[in-house]
Amino acid sequence: VDKLGTPERAVVTTCAYCGVGCSFKAELNGDELVRMVPYRDGKANRGHSCVKGRFAWGYANHKDRILNPMIRDTIDEPWREVSWQEAIGFAAARLRSLQERHGQKSIGVITSSRCTNEETFLVQKLARAVFGNNNTDTCARVCHSPTGYGLGQTFGTSAGTQDFDSVEASDVVIVIGANPTDGHPVFASRLKKRLRQGAKLIVIDPRRIDLVRSPHIRASHHLALRPGTNVAVVTALSHVIVTEGLFDETYIRERCDWDEFQDYAAFVSEDRHSPEAVETLTGVPAEELRGAARLFATGGNGAIYYGLGVTEHSQGSTTVMGIANLAMLTGNVGRKGVGVNPLRGQNNVQGSCDMGSFPHELPGYRHVKLPEVRKIFEDAWGVPIDPEPGLRIPNMLDAAVDGSFKGLYCQGEDILQSDPDTHHVAAGLAAMECVIVHDLFLNETANYAHVFLPGSTFLEKDGTFTNAERRINRVRKVMAPKNGYADWEVTQLLANAMGGRWTYQHPAEIMEEIAATTPSFANVTYDLLEEKGSVQWPCNDTKPEGTPLMHVDGFVRGKGRFIVTEYLATDEKTGPRFPLLLTTGRILSQYNVGAQTRRTDNVVWHEADVLEIHPHDAEQRGVAEGDWVRLASRSGETTLKAKITDRVSPGVVYTTFHHPDTQANVVTTDFSDWATNCPEYKVTAVQIAPSNGP
Ligand code: SF4
Repeated sequence: VDKLGTPERAVVTTCAYCGVGCSFKAELNGDELVRMVPYRDGKANRGHSCVKGRFAWGYANHKDRILNPMIRDTIDEPWREVSWQEAIGFAAARLRSLQERHGQKSIGVITSSRCTNEETFLVQKLARAVFGNNNTDTCARVCHSPTGYGLGQTFGTSAGTQDFDSVEASDVVIVIGANPTDGHPVFASRLKKRLRQGAKLIVIDPRRIDLVRSPHIRASHHLALRPGTNVAVVTALSHVIVTEGLFDETYIRERCDWDEFQDYAAFVSEDRHSPEAVETLTGVPAEELRGAARLFATGGNGAIYYGLGVTEHSQGSTTVMGIANLAMLTGNVGRKGVGVNPLRGQNNVQGSCDMGSFPHELPGYRHVKLPEVRKIFEDAWGVPIDPEPGLRIPNMLDAAVDGSFKGLYCQGEDILQSDPDTHHVAAGLAAMECVIVHDLFLNETANYAHVFLPGSTFLEKDGTFTNAERRINRVRKVMAPKNGYADWEVTQLLANAMGGRWTYQHPAEIMEEIAATTPSFANVTYDLLEEKGSVQWPCNDTKPEGTPLMHVDGFVRGKGRFIVTEYLATDEKTGPRFPLLLTTGRILSQYNVGAQTRRTDNVVWHEADVLEIHPHDAEQRGVAEGDWVRLASRSGETTLKAKITDRVSPGVVYTTFHHPDTQANVVTTDFSDWATNCPEYKVTAVQIAPSNGP
C-alpha cells in the first residue's frame, strides 16, 4: 500500500462478486484505479473483505475485453467491428423482422444478477414495453428461483428474513447446502466469530465443508446426507420436533395458520418420516438427526442459512418450504438472531428478482395476470402489458429447438457455460436467428451470437445492487465506460431503435420509476442512499429508514403457512453404469464461470477445477492423487484431475465449475425443480475411470 502512495481520490462503491455486498473505497491516481480498500462504514462488511473483492478487479483492464460492437449475418462468419449505431440498428431490425415473421412472442431477454437494479429493470421493461411480451427471465432461474417460490408461499415474500448483524444474537445455526467460507467469506467471518463465542452449529451437506471442522470451531452435528435427500432430512428434523413435543405452540397459534399446522404435524409424525426410517435413504445416522433436531428446537435463537445445495434440486422449492416450516415450528422467525436466510451467490440475485425479471412477475413480485398491477405499469409506460406469463430460460431454449422462439437479448450472462445440459443449450442458441450477447468478453454463448454489444464493468457505471439481506447499496462510477456506454444506456439505445421513447439521463431517474411502481422501494431515492449509506427494503412510508428484520409483527402474507413436504426421489438414478453421485460447488478464489477472476493477473486465480473422490472409490478404480480421470454421465463427459479426500463420502464425487475447459455442466442433467425449473445441478449419476488427460 505504501508503495502506491496516497491516492488522489477515492470513490465508495460496492463489490460486484457475491451477495454479501461489501462496500469498498476505490482509490485512484488520476484515472488509474490503484487499489480497492474495504470500507469501514459499509454496513454489510464493516471494513472487511475477501480476496475477490479486494484484489480481483484486474479484469476491468484485461486485453480480452471487447470494446467495439460487432455483428455478423451468420454464426459461421467472422465478426465485423461496426459503430454502435450500426450494431444497434442491425439488432433492432433483426428483432423486429423476427416478430413480423414469427409473432410478437418469438423473441425475449435474459437479465443478469451481475448488473444493477436499474439495468435489470430496463431489460425486463424492454421485453414488456417494447417487445410486447413477458419473455424475460434471469440467471437467478438457475440459482435461487426456488427461494422465490418457497418463501413466497410460506411467508409471503421472497427475501431473507434477517440482516447480517442478526447472526450476532444466534445461539444455534443451521448451515444447509451452503459453504460460506468459500462462497460468502465476509459473512462467514461474522458467523465464525459467533461460533467462537459459543453458538452451536449444525451443518447439513454431503461434503465436509471447512465450517464442520476449522480452528476453534467444531460443528455439533454434520449431517452428511446423500445428495438429493434434503427433503427427507428436513422432514425428519420436523418429525423429531413434533413427536417429542419440542415445537413452539404459543408462537404457532399466534403467528401461523393453526389448521395447516395440524395437517403438517400429522404428516411429519408418520413413522415413515422418523430418523430411523430415513437413515438408509439419507445416509445420516438416526441419532445424529435426533440430536440435531433437539439442539435446534431447544438451543435458543435458531437461525438457518442456506445456499444452492438446497435450491438446485428437483425438489429445491420443497426444501425451501421445509426450511420455512422448521423455522416456524420452533418460533424462529421475526426477531434478531433467528430467521431463514438464503445466501445469494451473485451480487444482485436479490435485486434481479425484485426488479421483475421472471416471466410471470412484474417488479415487486406481483403476477402479470393481476389487472390492477398491470395498470400501474401501463400508466407509467403508456403501453398495454401482456397478461400471459412469458417463457422461462429452458422454455425459450426448447421453443428455439422447436422453431417458435427466434431471438434473444442476453445481458451479462453466459448461458452456454452456466446452464445445465450444454448440448441442449447450444442446440437452442444455434436454432435462433438473432442472438445478441451484451457482455465484457466474447463468452461461450457469443459463439452462437449475431450481435456482440460490449458491456461495462461495475467500476464504469452508477446504480444499485441489492445484497442477500435486502440491502440496497450504491454502485458509483469510478471511471468512464471503456466501451463508451454503461449497460443501461445500451438497453436504452436498443429500446429506442425499436420504437421506444426512453429519455433516461442517469440511473437515479430509473430508480425514481422503480420507486413509483414498486411498493417495497417506494421511499428509495439516490438522495436517501447518500444520506444513509444504504437501506434495506421494504423502504416506504411505514418503514422510511428500511427494514432490517422481516415478519416482526406478523408474516407479510398474514398467517405463516405450513406446507406438507412430501419427499420424491429425483429421476436421476445411480445404477451399474453410473454408480456415483456428482455434486458441485465453488472455491474461495474463483467466482462462478471465472470470467472475471480468471482474468486477474495473480496466480491465485488460476487454481484448476479438480474432482474430489473418496479414497475407497479411488482405490476401487485404480485412481491416485493427481491422476487424470474421465468423468462421464448420461449427458456427456469431461476430464479432470483427481483429488483423493475423505471430505466426500464413499459414493459421492465433487467438483467446481470455474473453468471453461472443464465444462462441468456438460455432465449435468436437464432435470429441474418442479415449481421453478431451477436446474438440478447438485445431483448427477456419474462414473469415473482413469484417463490419459483431455
Ligand atoms: Fe465481494 Fe463477497 Fe468477497 Fe465481500 S465477501 S468482498 S461481496 S466477494
